[in-house]
Amino acid sequence: MRDYEKALDQRRAQQLYRQRRLLVSPQGPEVRIDGRSLIAFCSNDYLGLANHPALVETLRQEAERLGVGGGASHLVCGHHEEHHRLEEALAEFTGYPAVLLFSTGYMANLGVISALTERGDTVIEDRLNHASLIDGGLLSRAKLQRYAHADVEALSARLAAAEGEKLVVTDGVFSMDGDLAPLAGMASACRRHDALLIVDDAHGFGVIGHQGRGSVSRCDLGADEVPVVIGTLGKAFGTAGAFVAGSRSLIDYLIQSARPYIYTTAMPPVLAAVTRQSLRLIRDEEWRRERLRYLIRIFREEVQAIGFQLMPSETPIQPLLVGDSGRALALSQALEAQGLLVTAIRPPTVPTGTARLRVTLSAAHTDAHLEQLLAALKRVYRQQRVTQ
Ligand SMILES: *Cc1c(COP(=O)(O)O)cnc(C)c1O
Repeated sequence: MRDYEKALDQRRAQQLYRQRRLLVSPQGPEVRIDGRSLIAFCSNDYLGLANHPALVETLRQEAERLGVGGGASHLVCGHHEEHHRLEEALAEFTGYPAVLLFSTGYMANLGVISALTERGDTVIEDRLNHASLIDGGLLSRAKLQRYAHADVEALSARLAAAEGEKLVVTDGVFSMDGDLAPLAGMASACRRHDALLIVDDAHGFGVIGHQGRGSVSRCDLGADEVPVVIGTLGKAFGTAGAFVAGSRSLIDYLIQSARPYIYTTAMPPVLAAVTRQSLRLIRDEEWRRERLRYLIRIFREEVQAIGFQLMPSETPIQPLLVGDSGRALALSQALEAQGLLVTAIRPPTVPTGTARLRVTLSAAHTDAHLEQLLAALKRVYRQQRVTQ
């Protein structure tokens, strides 16, 4: 039997031990966590919708009509009119012919990659893809290959040598770096090599592109260049769940064969109803994205002036590269002592030697929140230079 205590001790010694914090407030810029009030710069609630009063009210009212549980899987008797209407609204929003809801983004990624591949095929992924995409590749029967981050030439070389059906899979916005995948170049490479391009836009939908239509829109592309796109509902949408957009036949094929779609309980219909309203807010309230762009610009200017190393990101994911896991953790703790919650992201979530503070901004952050973060970053930067 494996000695779990010993394995845990090793993790602690490497500064890689992870602990869960106890949150008691709704998600938002100010949270109650572990008995303290902190200003949070670490959730993916980019538009401030997770605790939006109108959405909370809809949830309350619609629960009277729809109940709270999903009750069954989609193919048994759980496919509710509310799921169907959300799928149609998402298809219209994304500009794809059809959409399929999943219970989580993790399951959507496992489901799509494994359903679309067979033994002898090749899945080619960016080295920095989200863990769920990597796991999807590993669990499929296809051969999994990875290429250097955002490197279209490296991807083309992999494509030229690949066997069987070829799936190219990438984050649209990279979750720990905040940068965009070079979708135009990737789409041409995929066309040349007859490969299917799949983009996971968990951090793009709602946040970038025309009316929040995500990375594909941001790169002036559409369903012709990116035939399959995956979105999650737990980030900018502020609710929970995920969706896959594609052609009608692709979606129908997934309904027949994606096991994480078939063998799980449908999301509560009430959540689908709330998410449809959240989609309307995303589409119609451009001021949330304008607010984000403003916060991102000020943050980058000020943090650069302090001396932190920024990463090339135009999105609300603004990591400060630290390198060493122990130092990233110490910085995060120093910020917390000043009332700010910013998580240190360490290996294996990011490559060894690239530990970072992952700052995420939300349209709900006020100018005062941002000023407090910047003042605290300035102080901890000076402190760490003194103690180093
Ligand atoms: C968060 C995330 C997921 C997982 O989505 P969940 O709905 O939280 O399971 C998938 N892909 C990326 C890129 C993500 O950031």
